[in-house]
Amino acid sequence: MKEIVVASHNAGKLAEFRAMLSDYTVLSPKDLNITTDVEETGDTFYDNALLKARALFEISGRPSIADDSGLCVDALNGAPGVFSARYSGGGDAENIDKLLNDLDGVKDRTAHFECCIVYYDGKDIISATGKAYGYITDKRMGNGGFGYDPVFFSDDLGKTFGQASEHEKNIVSHRARALQALKDSLLLG
Ligand code: IMP
Repeated sequence: MKEIVVASHNAGKLAEFRAMLSDYTVLSPKDLNITTDVEETGDTFYDNALLKARALFEISGRPSIADDSGLCVDALNGAPGVFSARYSGGGDAENIDKLLNDLDGVKDRTAHFECCIVYYDGKDIISATGKAYGYITDKRMGNGGFGYDPVFFSDDLGKTFGQASEHEKNIVSHRARALQALKDSLLLG
């Protein structure tokens, strides 16, 4: 089987990639004793994913995949966007507090999660984007998932990602959609 390296140390993410890319042997940087981390200095999800995929290819010499994702809120002109993880300077709880604060009194709370995945093999760059639409609730609902999940009400599921099971979220998530689109492109390419 063809080998592919995924730029993630997150066991859940790696499992999702393995399940989806069943025609490939999916390796993690850890499997190859790669410990370097790339700074996400790009202005877009695509730029950051490409930075990481390129760096991993240079080090591993194998076809590499990286993703970058975040939450985009329409009333905040797409923020926190690529700064989703660093929005408040604190952790997930502080990020949610800041978001709810920034949207205090705001009526239009529509938002989407976006994920861009980039494949790079030293020659071809293949990218795919997935989105999940919904709105930001005015308080936390559910405590599953991670990041902004408790305050993201999913149009697809009719509940917040925080109230959804992992299985439900994995069917409609931005990451699952990007991964499906990438898989379709890899099969075509
Ligand atoms: P990463 O690209 O997976 O590292 O995600 C960057 C940041 O975006 C995370 O730290 C979260 O704050 C946010 N984010 C991305 N995907 C999700 C999601 O599925 N649920 C909640 N937050 C997410």
